[in-house]
Amino acid sequence: MAREYVGDILIVDDTPNNLRFLSTTLSEQGYKVRSVTDGLMALTVAQAAKPDLILLDIMMPNIDGYEVCQRLKANSQTSDIPVIFLSALDEVIDKVKAFSVGGVDYITKPFQLEEVLARIQTHLSLREAQKEISQLNTELEQRVRQRTAQLEQEIAERLQVQERLLHLALHDVLTGLPNRTWFMKRLEQLLQQVNQQTNYHFAVLFLDCDRFQSVNDSLGHLVGDQLLVSLARRIELCLRPGTMLCRLGGDEFAILLQDIANAGNASKIADNILHELATPFQIGDYQVFTNVSIGIVMGSNIYKQPEHILRDADTAMYRAKAKGKACYQMFEQTMHSRALHNFQLESDLRQALERNEFEAYYQPIVTLETNQISSFEALVRWNQPDKGFIIPNKFIPIAEETGLIIAIDMFILRQACQQLRNWQDEGLADKSLTMNVNLSVKHFMSFNLLDYIDNVLQETRLDGSSLRLEITESDIMENAEFAGKIIEKLRERNIQLSIDDFGTGYSSLSYLHRLPIDHLKIDRSFVMRIGKNGKNTEIIKAIIALAKSLGMCTIAEGVETQEQLEQIRSLKCEFCQGYLFSKPVDAEAARNLLITGF
Ligand code: C2E
Ligand code: MG
Ligand code: MG
Repeated sequence: MAREYVGDILIVDDTPNNLRFLSTTLSEQGYKVRSVTDGLMALTVAQAAKPDLILLDIMMPNIDGYEVCQRLKANSQTSDIPVIFLSALDEVIDKVKAFSVGGVDYITKPFQLEEVLARIQTHLSLREAQKEISQLNTELEQRVRQRTAQLEQEIAERLQVQERLLHLALHDVLTGLPNRTWFMKRLEQLLQQVNQQTNYHFAVLFLDCDRFQSVNDSLGHLVGDQLLVSLARRIELCLRPGTMLCRLGGDEFAILLQDIANAGNASKIADNILHELATPFQIGDYQVFTNVSIGIVMGSNIYKQPEHILRDADTAMYRAKAKGKACYQMFEQTMHSRALHNFQLESDLRQALERNEFEAYYQPIVTLETNQISSFEALVRWNQPDKGFIIPNKFIPIAEETGLIIAIDMFILRQACQQLRNWQDEGLADKSLTMNVNLSVKHFMSFNLLDYIDNVLQETRLDGSSLRLEITESDIMENAEFAGKIIEKLRERNIQLSIDDFGTGYSSLSYLHRLPIDHLKIDRSFVMRIGKNGKNTEIIKAIIALAKSLGMCTIAEGVETQEQLEQIRSLKCEFCQGYLFSKPVDAEAARNLLITGF
C-alpha cells in the first residue's frame, strides 16, 4: 500500500528556474534534494550517492534525458532508481520512448505541483514496497534454504538409525559376525545365481564346536562367550577376505564359499580350520582345548530352498561328530534319506511306547561246567503291528540319541523282574537264577535310576541279588565318574554288574581294577573268530586271564558252534551264551527251557 515517504530526490534539469522551484518546494515537503543541470553530471552524482528517485528532464544540451535514463538502467548500481521524466514534449511517441528506456512515469511541463508531489510519493512508496518485498523474499529464501539443510540433517540422522537397526538385525552381537538371517538371505541369492549360471559353484560349511557345553558348564558363560569370539577370529584367519563367516547361534557357525571350483577347495579350507583350531585357546587364566566338527554341502540347482542346504550341511556335521569330532564330512544324498528315516523312526518309537509294543525276549546264559541255565538275559523286541518283530540294532541307536532309551530300559527292567518273580513263584527258578537286564547309562545322568530300581524290586518282591545289570564297556568308560558312583550304590543293594561287549570299548585297565564288577562278557566278535584247532584265541585267553586276576567271571557271547564251545570251555571261561544253546525267545519258550533244560 502506498504511504507517505520522505526521501532523497535528484532533480536533473537544464532550466535554472525549474530547478530552483522544484527543489525549494520539495525541500519544504521534507525531501532531501540534490539538483544538477547536466545529464553526465547526473550520472556521476547518482552513482556516488544513490537517490531514492530521479526527476529527469528530457531536453538537455550534452546528453538528453533518454540517454541518461538508459545509462542509469544499464548500471547495476543505479538500475533500480525510479526515474520520472519531466518534459514539455507531449507527443505519445515521446512518452512511449520514455517508458521504453526504463522511466516509471512521465510528467508534462508546465506541471502542476500537486501532480508532481503525488507522483513522487506514489513511486517512492512503490519503491519502498518493492524493497520490502524483495527483502522478504530474500529472508524467505534464506529460511527455506535453512529448512532444507535442516531436513537433510534429519534425513541423514534417520538413515543412520535405520542403518544401525539393520546392522543389529543382521549381525550377532557377541562376535560381530553376520547372523543366520543374513546368511539365509545371501544363500537365497546364490541359489538364484546357481539356477541361472550352470558353471557357478558354491559351498556351505556348517561348523559346530566340540565340547562347548562342557566349557560353558565348567568354566562359566563368560569364558564360553570369550571362547566363541576367539574361535570366530581364528576361523577368519583361514578365510579369504570377503568370505562370509556367520554365527548361526549358540556354538554353531557357517561359512559361505562363493564361486569355488570344486568340493576339493572346500575340504581344503575345512582342513585348514581344523589345523588352526588344534592349538589351545588362552582365555584369561584358562587354557581351553576345543575344535569343531564340520559338515560340507555343495550348492547346486537341485536345491530350491536355502533351508534345505543348511539342513544337509547340519546332517553332514552330525556325521562328522559321530566319526569322532574335530573332522569334516561331505554331505551325501544318502544321508538325507537316513535322516528322514530316523525322524520317522523316532516318532514311531514314541508311539510304540504309548501302545506297549515292546516286549522282553530271554536268552539263557549257561554255566559251562554243569550245562545249567544260570541266568537269562532280557533283550528288547519291538513288536510292530504291521512289520512284526524288530531287533534292537535297528532302533536302539535312535532311542539312545533321543533319550527314549530311558523309557524302554525301564519298561524291560520291570517286565523282566516281574517275569523272574513269576518263575520263582512257580518254583521254576531257584534263588541262584538271575535276570540280566541291559542298561544304557548315557541318559541316566539326570534321572534317578536307583529310585526306579528300588521301586521295581519292591513291587516285584525280587531280591537285589537276583538282578544283574549289563552296561557296555564304552558306556562305562565314557561316563566313568557317574558309572563309578552308580556301581557303588548297586553294590549296596547286592545287584550284580556285567560289562557287556568287553574288548571293544578301550577300557582303561587301571580303572577297571577299581570297579567292583562281577562279570566280563567277551564280545561276540572274538568268539566268532575262533578257528579250527583253536586258532585266534589269544585275545579271549588274555581277557579270561585278566578277569581272573581281578576276581571276575567271564561270559562268552555269541557261541554258535560246538567247536567254539569246546574252545572256550578249555580256556576255563565260566559261562556262555549263544545260538548254540538258544536264541533269545519269548517268555513262554523261556519257561519251557527252564522246565526241560538242555
Ligand atoms: P548284547 O547285550 O550284547 O546282547 C547280545 C546280542 O547278541 C543280542 O542281540 C543277541 O540276540 C545276540 N546273540 C546272542 N547269541 C548270539 C549268537 O550266537 N549269534 C549271534 N549272531 N548273535 C547272538 P539283540 O537282542 O539283537 O541285541 C542287540 C543289542 O541291543 C544288545 O547287545 C544290547 O546291547 C542292546 N539291547 C538289547 N536289549 C536292550 C535293552 O532292553 N536295553 C538296552 N539299553 N539295550 C538293549
Ligand atoms: Mg547284553
Ligand atoms: Mg554283548
